[in-house]
Amino acid sequence: MENIYNLTYEELGRFLINNNEKKYRTSQIFEWLYDKRVSSFDEMTNLSKDLILLLKNSFCIDKIKIVSQEIDIDVSKFLFKLSDKEHIESVLMRHNYGLSLCISSQVGCNMGCSFCESGRRKKVRNLNAYEMILQIMMIEELIKEKITHIVIMGIGEPFDNFDNLVKFIKIANHHKALNIGSRHITVSTCGIVPKIYEFSKLKYQVNLAISLHASNDELRNFLMPINKAYSLDELIGAVKEYVSSTNRRVTFEYILLRDINDKEEHARELCSLVKGINCYINLIPYNENSNILYKRSKKDTIMKFYDIIKKEGINVTIRREFGSNISAACGQLRSKKEE
Ligand code: SAH
Repeated sequence: MENIYNLTYEELGRFLINNNEKKYRTSQIFEWLYDKRVSSFDEMTNLSKDLILLLKNSFCIDKIKIVSQEIDIDVSKFLFKLSDKEHIESVLMRHNYGLSLCISSQVGCNMGCSFCESGRRKKVRNLNAYEMILQIMMIEELIKEKITHIVIMGIGEPFDNFDNLVKFIKIANHHKALNIGSRHITVSTCGIVPKIYEFSKLKYQVNLAISLHASNDELRNFLMPINKAYSLDELIGAVKEYVSSTNRRVTFEYILLRDINDKEEHARELCSLVKGINCYINLIPYNENSNILYKRSKKDTIMKFYDIIKKEGINVTIRREFGSNISAACGQLRSKKEE
């Protein structure tokens, strides 16, 4: 039976009309779901008995469960168990501008990036929209605070789960549902080029982050198998199209891996790659883990890399470090659980 948290406002509206119910019931039901956050249809006391029965016969309202958590000062990590007993994780980060939650989009991941813990386990399945929505709601319920920003950078490749991603954005964004502004939602992709074009057409005002991590094809083929399907040229072409059709600035993420992609020549190559694109580069100190051999670049290497980009007049930041104490990089908490 479909989970009611899987429905967009429009879908629920259509369902009600098809069942000879009034359209304004959509708003009432969404209030019960997203405002009052009930756990059963019986609690929706302003609906008719018939409508409650219809909902009960058509949908379930099951939540997903938080089974463990690790807490640090600015960052907490939550492990969820889904109804089929699979595990996913979310990471909550406290910023000065609000509370940001990094959510998973798939169980496992097929992208196979060599530095990433998530990809050590192949994709088992896509997450449904409701499983993405409920990561936010269950954590809000636990911490009794409102999450203001969402980043889809947990386990999984969101553009490999495109339809559910789009549904998720619609629900997260809707003023009668979670009401999280588009500009507070960030989608991160390893670069599935046709999906970047498809996403451009939707003209959502969300933030798009591209996991670049390399400045030439040879290096990127080695780090990220997706590059063998879509070269840097094709990726940059798609990003340019995205920027021109949405008018949004994109973020290029670049993990600095010691002696792999952190040389001065890489910084210069990176600059010429993104030159002229409305973008900024986010340099990420690598979160080391015991299963993967890459090392984090040294501090002065990171600073040198940063300076070269800065001098070129390209916007660049070094990601503030979160969660290296609590295995907060993608896939690390779940890996611990399964070992
Ligand atoms: N599949 C999507 C989203 C999930 S990964 C994507 O590729 O963008 C989210 C980000 O975390 C990516 O930029 C990924 O490359 C990065 N990442 C993965 N493992 C990391 C680690 N150990 N340390 C730092 N960043 C990591």
